[in-house]
Amino acid sequence: MELNLDKIIDIVKNELEGVKSIPAYNQLKAKYLGKKGLITEQLKRISDIPIEERSRFGKMVNKLKNDTESIFELYFNKLKTIEKEEKVLKNRVDITLPGREFPKGHLHPITLIQNEIKEIFKNLGFDIAEGPEVETDYYNFQALNIPPNHPAREMQDTFYVGDEVVLRTHTSPVQIRVMQNIKPPVKIIAPGKVYRCDMDMTHTPMFHQVEGLLVDEGINFAHLKGILKYFLQSIFYKDIGVRFRPSYFPFTEPSAEVDIECIFCKGEGCRVCSGTGWLEILGCGMVHPEVYKSVDYDYEKYTGFAFGMGVERIAMLKFGINDLRLFFGNDLRFLEQF
Ligand SMILES: [Zn+2]
Repeated sequence: MELNLDKIIDIVKNELEGVKSIPAYNQLKAKYLGKKGLITEQLKRISDIPIEERSRFGKMVNKLKNDTESIFELYFNKLKTIEKEEKVLKNRVDITLPGREFPKGHLHPITLIQNEIKEIFKNLGFDIAEGPEVETDYYNFQALNIPPNHPAREMQDTFYVGDEVVLRTHTSPVQIRVMQNIKPPVKIIAPGKVYRCDMDMTHTPMFHQVEGLLVDEGINFAHLKGILKYFLQSIFYKDIGVRFRPSYFPFTEPSAEVDIECIFCKGEGCRVCSGTGWLEILGCGMVHPEVYKSVDYDYEKYTGFAFGMGVERIAMLKFGINDLRLFFGNDLRFLEQF
């Protein structure tokens, strides 16, 4: 039987053209060169060929086998290249695309305001002091001229941890701890968390205060007014009206409450300021001699002032927030606005 070599080679080439994957390639290769492949079957036939034809037939079939193998090998390399290119195309990166931004956290509005307050006082030469949030009755009350049964204790809804241990109700105990450790001049602010048993639109059980203390020789009320006015005009806006009203705190004498001109109506009177044109913003006064006694300061020689403010109060006014509880609700829709 004559084999048309060229024809078989052409058929193989033709069929290979349609092969686009390695499994399909293997299948086609098996069809011709596998154990029961068409060409392999021809090789097995050699012994059946009449002896005078056998040599010629053998050479022919072997050539066919070798040629076909070469063609398959060539095509295999081509297939590999195609696959590689396709893979590259599939995983192509368009480096001209703008990058994707990762979601970023940001500072809490209370932290932002606290940082701003710290910055203003640092520029005035104040140091930052810290104290424990769990305090003894002595530091939270007694050393600040609030003895047991003093009516001022009723003003603060205290969390008691033990008989003589409380969650500090104000940052004022830091004053005592600082004065126990250093001699005048003292010029510090003490930012931190304070705790009171209270919860409504303007009260939360935990909130933030910044305490200030300046003690030296010859300090008077005019210094206090100057510093606080400068601070309020820095944190709100220049030219904001500031007024001092007489008040009472056990640890200062005289004491005052400080109001700022209502930042919403500029003093004309609105709902926020209850028509008064003023907003209460902080408390202050000249340090009481009884306080100096508890830290062994010479109250004939030194005078000074102290002040305390609520950080949330300032943040609410600055950002126009009407519910204090929003600060601690962890609602990202609220927090992401700052
Ligand atoms: Zn107003």
